[in-house]
Amino acid sequence: MERDRFENWLRNIYDTQDNEISCTECFDLVSHFVELETSDQDAAAELPQVIQHLGQCRACRDEYETLRDLVILENRGGAPSLDDLRNSIM
Ligand SMILES: [Zn+2]
Repeated sequence: MERDRFENWLRNIYDTQDNEISCTECFDLVSHFVELETSDQDAAAELPQVIQHLGQCRACRDEYETLRDLVILENRGGAPSLDDLRNSIM
């Protein structure tokens, strides 16, 4: 019962903001976003919902900036791979 109410509440939020994504979805997409961005592809055109979320969510923006910095380092050959890092976090 409590859970149904919670889901209705969530649904209401998504109905009113149907282009917006949750932090969980953002987290799932952000590594792909960083890959696009660091390989000179148009990440903003590919994943506009991530841009939008990063613009309004400080926690995800921190996550994104950390990932991006790591990928840039990795591309220079200096840091552990992104997969290694993700595995050690999760
Ligand atoms: Zn977020």
